[in-house]
Amino acid sequence: MTRKVALWLAAVVVSVCLGLPIQKVASITTPQPKAAGQARIVSQPEPRAALMSEHLPDRAAPVQSDAAEKSGPEVTDSDAFFQKAIQYTSQARNQAEKVEALLKRMTIEEKIGQMTQLQIGMIANGRDQDIRIDPSKLEKAIVKYGVGSILNVSDQALTVDKWQEIIAQIQEAATKKTRLGIPVIYGIDSIHGANYVQGATLFPQEIGMAATWNPELMKRGSEIAAAETRAAGIPWSFSPVLDIGRQPLWPRFWETFGEDPYLAKVMGVAFVRGLEGSDVASPNHVAASLKHYMGYSFPLTGRDRTPAWIPENHLREYFLPTFAAAVKAGARTVMVNSAEINGVPGHINHHILTDILRGELGFEGFVVSDWEDIKKLVNIWRVAANEKEATRLAVLAGIDMSMVPSDYSFSDNLLALVKEGAVPQSRIDEAVRRILRVKFELGLFENSMPNPALKARVGLPESRKASLQAARESMTLLKNTNNLLPLSKDRKVLVTGPTADSLIPLNNGWSYVWQGSEPSLYPKDRATIRRAIEAKVGAANVTYAPGTRITRPAGSTSNNTPTDLEEEVDIPAAVRAAQAADVVVLCLGEGSYAETPGNITDLTLGESQLRLAEAIEASGKPVVLVLVEGRPRIINRIVDKAGAILMAYNPGNEGGQAIADVLFGDVNPSGRLPFTYPRTPNGLITYDHKTFETEDTAFGNTAFKPQFQFGEGLSYTTFAYRDLRLSQKTVSGNAELSVSVTVSNSGRRAGKEVVQLYVSDLVASLSPAVKRLKRFAKIYLEPGQSRTLTFNLRRDDLSFIGTDNKAVAEPGEFDVMIGGLTDRFTLK
Ligand code: BGC
Repeated sequence: MTRKVALWLAAVVVSVCLGLPIQKVASITTPQPKAAGQARIVSQPEPRAALMSEHLPDRAAPVQSDAAEKSGPEVTDSDAFFQKAIQYTSQARNQAEKVEALLKRMTIEEKIGQMTQLQIGMIANGRDQDIRIDPSKLEKAIVKYGVGSILNVSDQALTVDKWQEIIAQIQEAATKKTRLGIPVIYGIDSIHGANYVQGATLFPQEIGMAATWNPELMKRGSEIAAAETRAAGIPWSFSPVLDIGRQPLWPRFWETFGEDPYLAKVMGVAFVRGLEGSDVASPNHVAASLKHYMGYSFPLTGRDRTPAWIPENHLREYFLPTFAAAVKAGARTVMVNSAEINGVPGHINHHILTDILRGELGFEGFVVSDWEDIKKLVNIWRVAANEKEATRLAVLAGIDMSMVPSDYSFSDNLLALVKEGAVPQSRIDEAVRRILRVKFELGLFENSMPNPALKARVGLPESRKASLQAARESMTLLKNTNNLLPLSKDRKVLVTGPTADSLIPLNNGWSYVWQGSEPSLYPKDRATIRRAIEAKVGAANVTYAPGTRITRPAGSTSNNTPTDLEEEVDIPAAVRAAQAADVVVLCLGEGSYAETPGNITDLTLGESQLRLAEAIEASGKPVVLVLVEGRPRIINRIVDKAGAILMAYNPGNEGGQAIADVLFGDVNPSGRLPFTYPRTPNGLITYDHKTFETEDTAFGNTAFKPQFQFGEGLSYTTFAYRDLRLSQKTVSGNAELSVSVTVSNSGRRAGKEVVQLYVSDLVASLSPAVKRLKRFAKIYLEPGQSRTLTFNLRRDDLSFIGTDNKAVAEPGEFDVMIGGLTDRFTLK
């Protein structure tokens, strides 16, 4: 019996003896999984589930490569993009009068209802595709409790028709059967596209979008996600994730834009602008939710929802900038860090939720808790003796809406607290005012009903092309010995490895179901890597032998179980097939997982995969290693003998084709790593480390030896840099420094280059990083073409957060580095 099963059984026994509801007790021992009442516990022994490729396409349907070599969108200066994004001013009408008038008419019960968010199971029966609204449950939630928000699926993506039907029933009840007719704000996790709407366009996960270094693609992607989410009648997405990925063990690493705060900040504002647009009330847009504010992504152990120790100056240096920028870019809502920093759980951190968010950043939208997190203040964090006290602490700290989500405890407790005077009316009014404002801005008071005409917007061919473009630009070529790639199309190819023939690893979690593990929900007409290669070179030239597989226990619920059981299928058969091939495409990586179920205790790639790789490499055939993974699994055992390595991240449903396009040269790769790829499990040093982190055991400075560097990525052409010029060598006051450089395509084919500008503060009162990214560009160059780019650095680009938690730019010398060139200037 596993420990979890034992705990659960104990909880059941205790609860039966005490007459408690089993579900609640279960959530005392372990946090409740997303599916209401469905614990991730499987009986044993289990037969194996079918391979991931079950129900998956038997035919590739590639998009034609018309745009393959065309430039697509470019960004010539990340700062120009960024400044435009944050200068956004809401075109939404000032709703203050309407909000105040409505607030005056509301009872305290109605106000508390607005602050309550429940999951869909609280108003519906059945699950998956059989879910249907239960009129009496709906009546209780919407009419009796006046609940202001509903969320989630139970537990599968629905068709747009089904969504519209459900949302219409909810809004019908809210607007027609309640005294004041306040519409509900439905929220959903549209993480990489409208992933809970069947047939919607799925994009690369954020880590892959970051690898494009192309915020225009991010903005386009989130515009499509917004339109397809709103088409379902849903006006609110729980995205983007703005946590910084500096802890690669963390199972949500792939939900981030990687380790660098600047890259993440630019991509983050692009995401927000795409979601919210210039008029968030329009049928193309939804409200964003910046999450998980803040410091959630840096757990000491790497396990989800576990403690982080982050001093405030580092919080502000690394974890706040993305949120601060996205607030400026207009984001309407913020979701809170489920874990704790420095011993203070995110949900009671008044300093972060109120002093900083409201006082400093001037955020005017509303703050929603994360899943069950007020309850967890009692059971998990143990900072409150009971849920009522937890509710008081959280609301006073700054939580405006509680994602309760499976009972009415929040409403009941908060009502009692207000009646006792333990939570002032003014705090309730403040929260409700913020929630109502967002509902007005979204146009829900004018029309909350889903619009049938929008259904046709889901999964348009042009949206699919945008996803393909993003997937292509995310592909990051990390090694290419003797130009093994691109492969010519007349070679005999063995396709092998556990990620070669499934859409599941290409997408990872938040895909149709929370854990991404339900094969039947993936589209039948999208190509896995294997099928895309067959379509490219002809099935007769391709052999497929998986060697190993990644699966999940049969009998487990596909919705809530990660695809992470690794096992050997037939490695000798794969080796025999390799011997008969000219080249091997070896597809390794991870299956699918999200949040806590994706915790690991070792970053090393699974042993069965390493054994497969070693056996294939021993065959002597050229090996192209394709990595389909959400975090950098350690591969040092197999890197040297791989001729080429392509990092694909989780590129989405078009990923199979994008990979094949790059392998066979129809697309020139232009992705760059948005994180440092470690060589060893404990060699977790980021690119912007301090000098002394490089000290080795012999006291030299060679300890920073990542497998691959942040910003690294090869092309099928070459780029040359010249003429790095600074406008002046001494910069005083708030004068700007202009930095220009000329980049040329010195190779023989067109391609896109990511130009990266780093700054190094040579001496500072707090030990400076060796370098930090300050600007970038993604430009297209024909062979022989040169372009001169100019970036302007401001004084605040040279600053850091001091021990007083304030930004300071200290006079002294700085180096500017672009593409191997360096120049120096002095700040006065
Ligand atoms: C996750 C959030 C998500 C929420 C609603 C939580 O478990 O941490 O990122 O938005 O659930 O599904």
